[in-house]
Amino acid sequence: MPGDSININNKATAQHMYDAIVIGSGISGGWAAKELCEHGLKTLVLERGRNVVHLKDYPTAIKNPWDFQHRGQLPAAVTKNNPVVSRCYAYGESTEHFFVKDNDHPYVQEKPFDWIRGYQVGGKSLLWARQTQRWSQYEFEGPARDGFAVDWPIRYEDIAPWYSHVEKFAGISGNKDGVPNLPDGEFLPAWELNCVEKHIQQKIKENYNDRQVIIGRCAHLTKPNEIHLQQGRGQCQARNLCERGCPFGGYFSSNSSTIPWAQKTGNMTLQPDSVVHSIIYDEKKGKASGVRVIDAHTKKVTEYYARIIFVNAACLNTNLVLLNSTSNRFPQGLGNDNGLLGRFVAFHNYRGSISATYDGFTDGYYYGRRPTEAFIPSFRNVFKQQTDFLRGYLSYFSAVRSGWQQGIGEDGIGGDWKNNITEAGGWAVYMGMQGETIPKHENHVRLSKDMKDAWDIPQLITSVGYDDNDVKLMKDFLTQCSEMLEKAGCKNINQQDSNQTPGLDIHEMGGVRMGKDPKTSLLNKWNQLHACQNVFVTDGACMTSVGNQNPSLTFMAITARAANHAVDELKKGNL
Ligand SMILES: Cc1cc2nc3c(=O)[nH]c(=O)nc-3n(C[C@H](O)[C@H](O)[C@H](O)COP(=O)(O)OP(=O)(O)OC[C@H]3O[C@@H](n4cnc5c(N)ncnc54)[C@H](O)[C@@H]3O)c2cc1C
Repeated sequence: MPGDSININNKATAQHMYDAIVIGSGISGGWAAKELCEHGLKTLVLERGRNVVHLKDYPTAIKNPWDFQHRGQLPAAVTKNNPVVSRCYAYGESTEHFFVKDNDHPYVQEKPFDWIRGYQVGGKSLLWARQTQRWSQYEFEGPARDGFAVDWPIRYEDIAPWYSHVEKFAGISGNKDGVPNLPDGEFLPAWELNCVEKHIQQKIKENYNDRQVIIGRCAHLTKPNEIHLQQGRGQCQARNLCERGCPFGGYFSSNSSTIPWAQKTGNMTLQPDSVVHSIIYDEKKGKASGVRVIDAHTKKVTEYYARIIFVNAACLNTNLVLLNSTSNRFPQGLGNDNGLLGRFVAFHNYRGSISATYDGFTDGYYYGRRPTEAFIPSFRNVFKQQTDFLRGYLSYFSAVRSGWQQGIGEDGIGGDWKNNITEAGGWAVYMGMQGETIPKHENHVRLSKDMKDAWDIPQLITSVGYDDNDVKLMKDFLTQCSEMLEKAGCKNINQQDSNQTPGLDIHEMGGVRMGKDPKTSLLNKWNQLHACQNVFVTDGACMTSVGNQNPSLTFMAITARAANHAVDELKKGNL
């Protein structure tokens, strides 16, 4: 607990009593709030950052490039003071107010880790790239089949109805492609591949029987349904300025969707500027009774109580809160009987990329700013082990007219520059990877014993790195995908290893993994801590392995599933 000046408001126990507490209001916390409130639970949502109200608090949403002092770029002094967050592609003059600055919330990098965070109501749901691919049975069966991590306690069939539940409400665009390891969902109309992407799609189909090119599925309202209109959201305008907050509600964020929906039930109390310090464990009752909260500004400490607690602070902060929740019963952190809390953190490998050119289709172009790309679902080690590395990668690519890229946003003068921005050049193709990494005991986070943050909470130490498997997997991506582009007639194929720091993928997962056995996992199949069953962890921290798909859709589905189970258990008097 912070300092001696603690002023715990014990007398106010009665007015601080709720049915449920949700820690964090981002993608997963928003879903917990929505589901619990819809079922009539009086729910307190605690958010460490400031409030961000949909539409009202998007100050840059309709600004033009010339309205920004630095035309969207950040001054060198800002990037120099913020080396970590500056490495995130989405951090810029139009979005900086939604990102955590390096010095405000320090952590200890035992191994380099770019921890990208958004501390506000809505969390990173305002900033995400909205790519939403389902997991398949092959991801849930992966650890057991290939002998890493521990067996998932759930299978695809357990979560499939919850994917549907989430997709219908959030609004996901896509095609029903019939790919076994990227199951179809409840889709709004898909975005379209352009002519060069369709050409590459066709050539890959002709040359490979195990690979398929599809348009990425993403959380954009291409054609809103009634449920989206009820949320006050409208059709995506393909502005591709999403990270500023969307004035149309065209993409899914907690702010535009789940949080106002929960608010409408009258059952939610949303409390921003409330830093959760720890979860309180009641030794007599053998369960958690509430949380300790520090006011972000006054630093006053208050306790809030509830029958169930959902921890949705985003993967690493969820680990931090649990590690910091010590008691006589749990001296190493809440639920941490086996000492594995904070262990088996994994992420997505984005190191490899390929650029190329394509001659031809000079009469072809595209309109609007499509918010997704062409995807090649994983084709490595899906049905059986094929290579000397474990697991696989999802590849994504797009083709653009290069003149467009060269001209826009660049300073210039004179005829050449004018030609650049008015005449489309040849086609350029860019390809990237999203590879699965293997959760390992040594990849972990823990609390610093001497370094504290401004709220007197121990800083997190990150100790997460790559291994040989990651390098082999990346090399395979570079070889296989270069070959595919070559077969499609691309030229000037260039391969790159960015060697980017783990964390910059912003898909960190694990530390509080699900499993069947309390000796080797922290959570059961309903995301309850094995040893403290009224605490549910449903953000990325719960992930036993990380798959190759973008993860947030799975966090949402897992959260909705767990919240509905919690309601059932409360009704039965089991919690
Ligand atoms: C630029 C970018 C692009 C991305 N693209 C994609 C994508 O295309 N597809 C995809 O699936 N994912 C993507 N992601 C990742 C995605 O944003 C996260 O997976 C998702 O937001 C995680 O949801 P969450 O609820 O766990 O965390 P968040 O959305 O981060 O919410 C966590 C909330 O908890 C709050 N909090 C933290 N600690 C405390 C505390 N102690 N007390 C109270 N509150 C606390 C935070 O302030 C925050 O509001 C992207 C992320 C970024 C930044």
